[in-house]
Amino acid sequence: MHVFVRDWLSANQVVLRSRDGGVVIDSGYGKHVPLTLALVASRQGLDGAPLATLVNTHCHSDHMGGNAALQRAYGCTIAVPAGEAPLVAAWDERALLLDYAGQRAERFGVDEILQPGSTHVWGDLEWRALAAPGHDMRALVFFNDEHGILVSGDALWQNGYGFVMPPAIDAEALPATRATLELIAGLDVRRVIPGHGEPFDDVQAALERAFRRTEAFEADPLRLARHALKVVLVFALLDRERLPLAAMSDYVERTGIFREFNARFFKVPPATLAGQLTDELVRVGAVRCEEGYLLPR
Ligand SMILES: [Zn+2]
Repeated sequence: MHVFVRDWLSANQVVLRSRDGGVVIDSGYGKHVPLTLALVASRQGLDGAPLATLVNTHCHSDHMGGNAALQRAYGCTIAVPAGEAPLVAAWDERALLLDYAGQRAERFGVDEILQPGSTHVWGDLEWRALAAPGHDMRALVFFNDEHGILVSGDALWQNGYGFVMPPAIDAEALPATRATLELIAGLDVRRVIPGHGEPFDDVQAALERAFRRTEAFEADPLRLARHALKVVLVFALLDRERLPLAAMSDYVERTGIFREFNARFFKVPPATLAGQLTDELVRVGAVRCEEGYLLPR
């Protein structure tokens, strides 16, 4: 088993080798496909072994963006959470947070559906697929009881988790986030392999941070809306490398999630929203302005 730790544009790849063919969990963002293919093929990856199955924790662009390319390269089966399958089949760009969030992924077909509660043998280890709604209401996490390893996707990171939709957009999302953290707290997890960032062992501390964050969101749902937009904006900057400051207002007006959140929550001119988000991100050091452009840190 090997974990390729990527950045925030591409999710990590977990490569599980076995006699029956390899399994890769999550395939990164489309822009990074050449690196993803190189890592998966490398000595620490499959090293010449076949890839039997590509698995997704959930179907957001940074986790499924290399699916089509890996399938072309290896002829592998693609397995996605049961809840994601119909959205992928219909290529629902809104539900999959593609054009709605200014993101892209190459379309692919689903070969296998992963039901919550099902058990799978990947890399000669037994993994339970557990429903982990919240950041993505259809997401799964994969738990190996024997070694206490949790492949958590974006349900739990060392510091937080993937952004969650505000209650006015999806009333279930924040309660589900808390329930998923409680589910994880009830497992004997000794090591977490998150979708982003290094694997970690201090699971208790990560859960405490995640619960505190959830409490803060519960107390101030508007904070959730701002947080989601800031995350989506930083992702767009990582994808495009920079955006002209003069085009930010237009970007906020054109991109579905900004337009919808502004209409529902903030009700300000697009230029004002763009300015507020930019200022907040500059203040916390997540982005910087340089010669008329906004750039990621
Ligand atoms: Zn992710």
